[in-house]
Amino acid sequence: MKYISTRGQAPAREFCDILLGGLAPDGGLYLPEAYPQVSRAELDEWRALPYHALALRVLEKFITDIPACDLKTLVDRTYTAQAYRWCRPGRDAADITPLTTLEPGLHLLELSNGPTLAFKDMAMQLLGNLFEYVLDKRGETINILGATSGDTGSAAEYAMRGKHGVKVFMLSPHGLMSDFQRAQMYSLPDANIFNIAIRGMFDDCQDIVKAASNDAAFKAQYKIGAVNSINWARVAAQIVYYFKGYFAATRSNDEQVAFAVPSGNFGNICAGHVARMMGLPIAKLVLATNENDVLDEFFRTGVYRPRATAETHVTSSPSMDISKASNFERFAFDLAGRDAAVVREWWAKVESAQPNGGGFDLRGTPYLTRLPEFRFASGTSSHADRLATIRAAFEKYGVMIDPHTADGLKVALAHREAGVPMVVLETAQPVKFAETLREALGREPSRPRELEGIEALPQRVEVMEADAGAVKAFIAARA
Ligand SMILES: *Cc1c(COP(=O)(O)O)cnc(C)c1O
Repeated sequence: MKYISTRGQAPAREFCDILLGGLAPDGGLYLPEAYPQVSRAELDEWRALPYHALALRVLEKFITDIPACDLKTLVDRTYTAQAYRWCRPGRDAADITPLTTLEPGLHLLELSNGPTLAFKDMAMQLLGNLFEYVLDKRGETINILGATSGDTGSAAEYAMRGKHGVKVFMLSPHGLMSDFQRAQMYSLPDANIFNIAIRGMFDDCQDIVKAASNDAAFKAQYKIGAVNSINWARVAAQIVYYFKGYFAATRSNDEQVAFAVPSGNFGNICAGHVARMMGLPIAKLVLATNENDVLDEFFRTGVYRPRATAETHVTSSPSMDISKASNFERFAFDLAGRDAAVVREWWAKVESAQPNGGGFDLRGTPYLTRLPEFRFASGTSSHADRLATIRAAFEKYGVMIDPHTADGLKVALAHREAGVPMVVLETAQPVKFAETLREALGREPSRPRELEGIEALPQRVEVMEADAGAVKAFIAARA
């Protein structure tokens, strides 16, 4: 399987060659040159498989440059009941992504039972094992530099902890994460994990990462890499649970399913799009946003208008607070009939230096006419909706959900169709967002017993000023 760039001006590469990099050299994102197809016979066979075996079947269609036995070892080591044991009482951890039925035809697919209690573990845990394997093979090392406001940084650290050849330098805003998120990251004892708390905001952290990554000499000398959400391997790993969720919510492969996806960077729902393109019977992909509604606006109107960072709302579903959706270009490539020249034209507009950033408008073009073929629906959710949905889920179904999942459920309810099961992707556990849970329910969210008291564990963190030079010196001394 070869991978091509959405901008069409980079050579086709194998999976392992694009694994450790970010964007393609022409500024585009990598996608398979053609989507592998799943036959009816395969679907029939896959229906009965446990998660790790299903993951291997799906991933071996995308990863053809790792020997099958090695890939099997990596996948088996990733998707274990032990790693995904943080599930609700009474669930079977061996399911990895158990399905909870709220009422007939309405389900939650639990994707947040991994070590950091957010769905990002589903892909990041595999990425950790893939990175270690490829670096060992090539005798190389990497220093991952990132900025986080919570979920991504902890998922990356738990995926890379103790891995040969990998060090992680993770910047977070000093004093701005929740006590729980701080405890999760800063209590890791592993020698290859470095937490740096910056006196500033998340944007200051991100600016430092950009400054260091744009310094080509520094980047090359210290082998600086990233694990951001445009990484194709993350999307590939996320395709698996759409298959798992489909099988869990249906009895036969003649049925169709709708998925509702709390969305930010369009990574999670992009995996659903690819699953549908492979032939999984998905009736509809329901995209849910919070107050940051760039993507809802696109699917309702055909206008893509990324916002300036300063226009981004700070909300109570913070992992969906994005101003532009970095994975959206992958979908746009398919919408453009895989015509890279069209994508280049659209993104020339997106990247044009208008005051609030550019964008493109598909009204009156054949692309907007074609959009319904891709079977997306969308909607938004506000803080008040989020609180009301958390409350309703608790009162009606006895289930506590996190604010992001609440956004998904709120929008899902507006898009149900008779005879089509609706599967809402649960992207985090409520304990990560205790403040909003208290506001909605007037009580503390439940947490897995093993995590009682993690706030009291010793923490390792270096507090630094928002100064790229100082951070680079810190990395240079430890890389
Ligand atoms: C990252 C994240 C999202 C958004 O996912 P995308 O792939 O960026 O669309 C939603 N919910 C939670 C809890 C997250 O951590």
